[in-house]
Formats: sequence, C-alpha cells, structure tokens
Amino acid sequence: MTCETCGSPGRAAICLDVPKMDVLHAGNFLSLEQCNDCSYLWATALYEPFASFKYAVPWEKPPEDWHKIYGLDDGRTMALWIDRTLINAYPVLQPKDSANAGLHRQRAYSASPFFEMYATPQEVAQLYGQNNIRGRGLPDLNLLLK
Ligand SMILES: [Zn+2]
Repeated sequence: MTCETCGSPGRAAICLDVPKMDVLHAGNFLSLEQCNDCSYLWATALYEPFASFKYAVPWEKPPEDWHKIYGLDDGRTMALWIDRTLINAYPVLQPKDSANAGLHRQRAYSASPFFEMYATPQEVAQLYGQNNIRGRGLPDLNLLLK
C-alpha cells in the first residue's frame, strides 16, 4: 500500500513538496528524514536559490550509513549522490513531482537538479566548469561503505 504522506514505496523522488518528517541526521543543506506515518527513509537536499527548493530521494540503507557517507567529506559525496539519483529518477517522476520540477526550472533555470535534461551542451559545460560537484557519475555508496 502506498503511504499517503510520502508516497513510498514506488515514488522515485519528491520534488519541492517534501512532507514534514522526522529529521534523523542533518548537515549542510542535506538531511536524512523519516516519514512519520510509514517510517520510510528519505535523503533530502536543498537547491538554490536561497536553498529553498527541497528534493528527496529514497534512502534504502540504514540511517548510520547516511551519517558515514556524509562524514566522508562534509556532505559533498552525499550531495552528488542525491543529485545523480534525482537525474536517474527524472524519467519516472510522478506527474505532481514533474510539474513541481518544472516550476523550479522556471524560477531558476540552472539551479534545478534536472538542468542537464533540458539545457544545451554549451550551458551544461559552462555550469559544470564552475561547479565540480555536478557533472560526475553516480557515486557507488557500497564501495564507499566498505
Ligand atoms: Zn510515508
């Protein structure tokens, strides 16, 4: 059965309207949160402008693993993992999430996690030249947790 609060299981990502959940771990613009109703875990990230656009992706590992990954480099790898996981979720976003992602795109074109899905190659090269977090592959968390 689908949780009415967070949409798990089966929701590939929550775009902007992340419900209020219990915060298990918090870091710079990142957190691990747990749904109050179904206990499902979500890794969240805040996107610009003003860190006011919140996204969440399913976290299927123990909460301690979020803490370990975050602690590797003060959240840089975690931010990248969430970013790439969102990109992978893009084709299967639910209609509401897709619409919300569109609102973010309208508000802040290059700040959207889905920027590379609609930007020109020149725009992508320009952004990734300035920001070494994005434009890399999905980190393998299992390797990092060994
Ligand atoms: Zn839930």
